[in-house]
Amino acid sequence: MPGFTPGRRWQPAYIPFKKETFGNRVLETVEYMVKGPLFGCRMCGNCLLQETAFICPMECPKGLRNGPCGGSTSERCYVDPTRPCIWYKIYDRAFRMNRQEMLLEVLPPLDWEKTGTETWGDVTRQVKKVGVRKFVSGIFSNDKEKREENWQSVFEPVRQPEWWQGDREYHAPAYEEPVSELERRLKAGEFVVTSEVAPPATVATKKLKENIELIKPYVTAINFTDCPSAAARMSSWACSTIAIGEGAEPVMQIAARDRTRVGLQAEILGSNALGIRNVLCLSGDSMVLAPPPRGRMDIVDLDAVQMLWLLRRIRDTGKYLDGRPMKFPPKYFLGAAASPFASEPHFQALREEKKVNAGAQFFQTNLVYDADGLEKWLNELAKRNVLDKVYVLVGITPLKSYTMARYMNDEVPGVFIPDALLARMKDAGDNASEEGVQIALELIEKVRKLQGVSGFHLMPVNWESVVPRIVTEAGLLPKGFVAPEPKEDKVLA
Ligand code: SF4
Repeated sequence: MPGFTPGRRWQPAYIPFKKETFGNRVLETVEYMVKGPLFGCRMCGNCLLQETAFICPMECPKGLRNGPCGGSTSERCYVDPTRPCIWYKIYDRAFRMNRQEMLLEVLPPLDWEKTGTETWGDVTRQVKKVGVRKFVSGIFSNDKEKREENWQSVFEPVRQPEWWQGDREYHAPAYEEPVSELERRLKAGEFVVTSEVAPPATVATKKLKENIELIKPYVTAINFTDCPSAAARMSSWACSTIAIGEGAEPVMQIAARDRTRVGLQAEILGSNALGIRNVLCLSGDSMVLAPPPRGRMDIVDLDAVQMLWLLRRIRDTGKYLDGRPMKFPPKYFLGAAASPFASEPHFQALREEKKVNAGAQFFQTNLVYDADGLEKWLNELAKRNVLDKVYVLVGITPLKSYTMARYMNDEVPGVFIPDALLARMKDAGDNASEEGVQIALELIEKVRKLQGVSGFHLMPVNWESVVPRIVTEAGLLPKGFVAPEPKEDKVLA
């Protein structure tokens, strides 16, 4: 185990893509020999240790550089249960060292021309630029702020290349007029409902269209998941385009797991040209959940926070990541996933604040079964002044059976079902699906009164037919709701 990184082992270090000069190779070897045993360094070429409480984040098997995924716990990493969640360890140490605010800085993705190369040379060059004497005297300054400023004058330019320039600040959207109906309603203060529809696992679209038709009148927008559990299905943008054709407003989900920086930018332009205006950025379920044979599990080109940062900048500055100007930039309402029951509420709140700073305008949360636990998380968000910058849609999934409830609680990362609800589902026997609906309705009733809740996000898990009932019985019908005609009438017409 490395000296200062509480991980289980070192993952292999990156090697430079191109042949390096002899001098550089010597420097790389020395850096690796020092930082390897101390931090489990993988030679990512852009050291973040200062920002991550001196724990190297490159041990995260999802390759996340900006915080934990929604499955983070104090116990084990869900991707590799033989090691701890390294991001839990980072947050825990950062809070103990009072360095937690440093975790807000939006850190850049890897520069693959630099991976495997040394970072000490960059630091030395920057020290020379600042002035060696000035830097050394700054280290010994009695003024804490000056010391911090001095430190940042060297390490920030090294850490934040010109093409990224991430920071810890909130960046409000640079537009006024809502770009989608979902945004319009939320801005108008309406309580909204969105719902998921599962994309088909074939090219047949009949069932997909039927489900869209069924729930469309009851919700403001429909989410199309992006290969949940890392199992291939019809793409979210294709389903979203079909939904637009059916007169429904989609929320296109994009999982970082399957994107590169080029692919993401291309997809966002294409989907925007097709009329898609709501985009939800996620890390995505790990490949470890996928049916074998599995793809790479330890790498993402961009994580969800980086996706938000990049997409917000494209929209608000009209520039690609590489700086090329765009004549007609895309318009979209940016969302992110939030996970109230992963790790600790105050850890999660910091992570959600980072997403909001990066560009998230709305959250759709993971499944919620515990109103009190949700309230704790909301209170933490309020303490961080996040609730007035983001709309929170609380995730609700009606349970269909006791087996499903057990599976959700025991196997799905970031989901917690209180024992009392598990017992209700068990005792309900053959009536379990009805009990599941009642539990969902009770939760909605409790949660809708909590501060900062702007609506609900229903995730019916292939039970789309329950959506109209839940929305109606919970009294959540949208403004101007028009009941759909009974099917028989339509056929006769
Ligand atoms: S952040 Fe990168 S350079 Fe720093 S210790 Fe980890 S792998 Fe090494």
